[in-house]
Amino acid sequence: MTDQVPKAARVVIIGGGIMGCSVAYHLTKCGVKDAVLLEQGRLSCGTTWHAAGLVGQLRTSSNITRLVQYSAELYARLEAETGQATGWKQCGSVLVARTPERAELFKRIASAAAAQGVSCESISTKAAADHYPIMRTDDIVGALWLPLDGKVNPADVTQALAKGARMGGVRILERTRVTAIHVQAGAATGVSTDKGEIKADIVVNCAGQWAKQVGRMCGVTVPLHSAEHMYIVTGRIDGVHPDLPVLRDPDGYIYVKEEVGGLLMGGFEPEAKPWAMNGIPENFEFGMLPDDWDQFEILMQNALIRLPALETAEIKTFMNGPESFTPDNNFILGEAPALKNFFVGAGFNSIGIASAGGAGRALAEWIVAGEPTSDLWPVDIRRFAPFYDNDVLLHDRVKEVLGLHYKMPWPNRELDSVRPFRRSPLYDRLADKYAVFGSKMGWERPNFFAPSKAEAKIDYSFGRQNWFPYAAAEHKAARETVAVFDQTSFAKFLLQGRDALSVLQRLCANEMNVPVGTSVYTGMLNKRGHYESDLTVGRIAHDRFLIVTGTAQATRDAVWINGHMPDGAHAFLTDMTSAYVVLAVMGPRARDLLARLTKAPLDNGAFPFGAIREIGIGNANVLAARRTYVGELGWELFVPVELATGVYDLIMSAGAEFGARDGGYYAIESLRLEKGYRAWGRELSPDINPFEAGLGFSVKLEKGDFIGRDALVAAKGKTLEKRLLSFVGLSADSPLAYGGELILRDGVRVGEVTSAAYGHTLQAIVALGFVKTEGMTTENLLDAKYQIDIAGHLIPVRASLKALYDPVGARTKI
Ligand SMILES: Cc1cc2nc3c(=O)[nH]c(=O)nc-3n(C[C@H](O)[C@H](O)[C@H](O)COP(=O)(O)OP(=O)(O)OC[C@H]3O[C@@H](n4cnc5c(N)ncnc54)[C@H](O)[C@@H]3O)c2cc1C
Repeated sequence: MTDQVPKAARVVIIGGGIMGCSVAYHLTKCGVKDAVLLEQGRLSCGTTWHAAGLVGQLRTSSNITRLVQYSAELYARLEAETGQATGWKQCGSVLVARTPERAELFKRIASAAAAQGVSCESISTKAAADHYPIMRTDDIVGALWLPLDGKVNPADVTQALAKGARMGGVRILERTRVTAIHVQAGAATGVSTDKGEIKADIVVNCAGQWAKQVGRMCGVTVPLHSAEHMYIVTGRIDGVHPDLPVLRDPDGYIYVKEEVGGLLMGGFEPEAKPWAMNGIPENFEFGMLPDDWDQFEILMQNALIRLPALETAEIKTFMNGPESFTPDNNFILGEAPALKNFFVGAGFNSIGIASAGGAGRALAEWIVAGEPTSDLWPVDIRRFAPFYDNDVLLHDRVKEVLGLHYKMPWPNRELDSVRPFRRSPLYDRLADKYAVFGSKMGWERPNFFAPSKAEAKIDYSFGRQNWFPYAAAEHKAARETVAVFDQTSFAKFLLQGRDALSVLQRLCANEMNVPVGTSVYTGMLNKRGHYESDLTVGRIAHDRFLIVTGTAQATRDAVWINGHMPDGAHAFLTDMTSAYVVLAVMGPRARDLLARLTKAPLDNGAFPFGAIREIGIGNANVLAARRTYVGELGWELFVPVELATGVYDLIMSAGAEFGARDGGYYAIESLRLEKGYRAWGRELSPDINPFEAGLGFSVKLEKGDFIGRDALVAAKGKTLEKRLLSFVGLSADSPLAYGGELILRDGVRVGEVTSAAYGHTLQAIVALGFVKTEGMTTENLLDAKYQIDIAGHLIPVRASLKALYDPVGARTKI
């Protein structure tokens, strides 16, 4: 076969690592045969050939776990299909805990694994020792056993995928470098290579650690940075055999796998060593970095503790290879927000071998269907914004990210690097009041307010963390007096123009043709009738709408709205996120407080629930929306950034009389869960429709056509397979839940907690979670006995379809 590039192909894939080959293979399974894969060197010569080959199945989200489960199934059967071995061995894996906290985490993981359908068992030290006789166990306080985990030979899997792709019709060209991406009218149309040009309908960037620079060829943000990642391989050791499980000792930062009768030992040190700050050298093919025993020392010391046999083992190889890491330690998948028909599958954070099977299939399906076929939000490229395309930011973040693999994933854990970053104008004022901030989409957001500088920190634990009483006081203020929340990080858009209403009518499931001055809570759904977003739209003029959506949804929602704008529509979307501070004034005294500062009438008749209009606060005009996410009387004030400090000061000084206090996101979480309010990315996702989520009230099938309507018409009236329920604990002092826990009904596994907190008003844990209905009537569903598995403790809870806290009916409407 000639190595001349073809003139055209339906799909061009850049990169012949495991991911590019997996996408190529799965495209053929989706019926796409006219695809070309271009590799600048030889297949697997980038990062793939370095890999240790561990395939660990459990991930933090069910759908991402399912991707890895599929990888394992695929690697097990590829040889039979292609004749090319993959080295797959289902050897299982053992995880050991050195601390009681890690041991508790393991019990929580076992519960989450059961909810996700992964085989995973909390085992005794003795059982761990039986699985791994050569390890030292006298310092171990807990262990996990995952029997279905395994290992592969990464280069062989890549060849097997490539072979399967070729068998399905894909052309693979090695030694062919992509030098430019062709763009026309906002869409990718092909590539230039060092051997000629190829026109393409779709271009897929699977260029591994090069993916950032390939993205930059066409203005696409692929936020990743390389870091050095190291392991050693020893000569033969007595007692080491091919069936030995993979061993992970996260408190010692290490993983260990059998390799030709010896051990391969690597790990994730707490502070990583970023690499290639000035770009990746040309021709880094099958490249290796120099040994760095200083960087490796922390891993070596810990390995010697766990595996005394290493003391005398011969070190045959020191492997130091670069791998790319992303700002949140999740990989990057999907169609680029900035460029149509340009897809990315990269940034695998050292789990690319385990992930590539499932990720390649998911990306191939996305390419063919034009949208993801399941909820991929944790890895979706639309979770990033262009500001992530900054090398200083990425370099500083990557130092921290590599270590996250084994760092304790405490509830509410925040990252420390690149902080503080995006700041509301109130940041300094709130910091002076000992706000402790968390970070979302780069925004610093107050999580709680401490009483003193000394307490302005988080002491992580699974129990009641140090901030528990402070968040409780903020929660109480919102329920009994008034609390003020800085929610500036909300994403905000203006949609304006003659066709703005018709565009929204098509995008939104609720009725958008409402009187000016009304705001509407609605879902934006996909063709399957599942959530793409949930948001609030305020009609502020006949042809002008303020769209307010979640902090993390800024890119995603803009892409969805713009992507569904009919050609020639007179409707224009502008991101206003940085133009407005949002102050949420919430609580039974909110009206009294604001009445001190405005002449605008705020009574129910003049300013009913759902109204949105401009009012004066002192000498500043602000947009006020009467709504709530905490279940109390309240207004969200959209204040021009330059007026925000003045308005905030006025509110806080007038609020003193009513006991107003600042509140943070931890209080918002407990308040909203008592009211059963759903959150995007937890309860609402592209796998869920409004009926399952109990949000049928926000769907108006009778209004005419909208995206997802046909699917909802078909679903309406049918028995729901799963339903979202609220749960409240029956006692005040149970262990705390944080989401991901297993739900049991009458002793049988039926679902997973999506969000949980301690409800300070109800004095018990409160949670939302989906359960299988198994055809039960609503009455039977609610009458059943439910338990939540929290670290192996089965905590009895009561289920409800209604808000758990709603003392005077719709108190919000008072
Ligand atoms: C030491 C080490 C150990 C690891 N261990 C594990 C493990 O045990 N388990 C696990 O799951 N993961 C592991 N990983 C991570 C895993 O190796 C990677 O996540 C995975 O290989 C990434 O695959 P990829 O296809 O995205 O990238 P790559 O393998 O780097 O492939 C990208 C390809 O794109 C090509 N390319 C780039 N630019 C161009 C261009 N302009 N034109 C044409 N071609 C181009 C490159 O040459 C390269 O071959 C490890 C990584 C390292 C470094």
